[in-house]
Amino acid sequence: MKAVVLPGDETVSVQSFEDPVPGAGEVLIRVKATAVCGSDLTALRGEQVVGTRPERLVPGHEVAGIVEAVGPGATSVAVGDRVAVYLAIGCMKCENCRAGNLMLCPEVKILGFDVQGGDAELVVVPAVNCMRLPDEMSFAEGAVATDMFGTQYSAQDRLGVSGADTVVVSGLGPMGAAAVAIAKARGARVIAIDPVEHRRELGLRLGADVVLPAVNDEVRTIGIGRGHGGPDVVIECSGNVRAQAAALEMVRPLGRVAFVGESRELKINPSEHFLRKLTTVIGAWYFPIWQFDEITQFLIERKVPVNEIISHRLTLDDAPKAFEMLAARSAEKMVFEL
Ligand SMILES: [Zn+2]
Ligand SMILES: [Zn+2]
Repeated sequence: MKAVVLPGDETVSVQSFEDPVPGAGEVLIRVKATAVCGSDLTALRGEQVVGTRPERLVPGHEVAGIVEAVGPGATSVAVGDRVAVYLAIGCMKCENCRAGNLMLCPEVKILGFDVQGGDAELVVVPAVNCMRLPDEMSFAEGAVATDMFGTQYSAQDRLGVSGADTVVVSGLGPMGAAAVAIAKARGARVIAIDPVEHRRELGLRLGADVVLPAVNDEVRTIGIGRGHGGPDVVIECSGNVRAQAAALEMVRPLGRVAFVGESRELKINPSEHFLRKLTTVIGAWYFPIWQFDEITQFLIERKVPVNEIISHRLTLDDAPKAFEMLAARSAEKMVFEL
């Protein structure tokens, strides 16, 4: 089979491998769509976050395809099933795995970082990592429904985002774009913020009520007639530390903030940001595996414009060009279709 390889020295190539064979409890998936993610840059540069990196690492953790073969004992899926793949491979015995939060397993391995990923014609994953992809959704939609829309659905579900809320989405990369679409579908009024014009245009296409290049006084004083100033909810997707601090500052008293954009350091003022405002702040990454049926039903029934966040549809052979665009930040969400 053919697969994308990131040796970790910032180069990208497409190489041939022996077809993988599913072992006990595993399945072989014929990949139909696999999305490139900003987090793939760490693999491109060889910055291993956790675990150990396979030699000739194949990236790809937002994957959808068709079950081609099942290993011994893999009874939860059948040959021919349309599936999306859950990115975290857990022990399935610990408390976190049993609760569906495989990404919190102490022994977790992440597809495309610690084990060979889905930017390939074929990929082997545990059968338990296969999630049903409804017929109404394309494989490309299934791929981006995992990390982007799944993370946002779960975060906004935890925050209880509803039609009573004004939600600020900070940063309109693919994750922020998904945040806008989900918040809108949940009925909220959405203000989307990004300094880049074409991202603001995407925000409007996804249903944002207002788009702004930066936070202004109007946002900071929303709701003042109701006795508070500031948005009910802020979803911070940029990972920019100034934007993260602004999120904590602008949210109204008793407001809710989700941190979704990755960063390593942020200066906070607990009294001002949390205590006196009684703020709820959550971190969000991915979703519990049992939630995927709920996520796909929501996307279908609310007609969420999932395809809008896909900026480029490419083939596996385009991988060197795709990763070059990713590193140069000249493309938003790229999907390889096979
Ligand atoms: Zn991702
Ligand atoms: Zn576990």
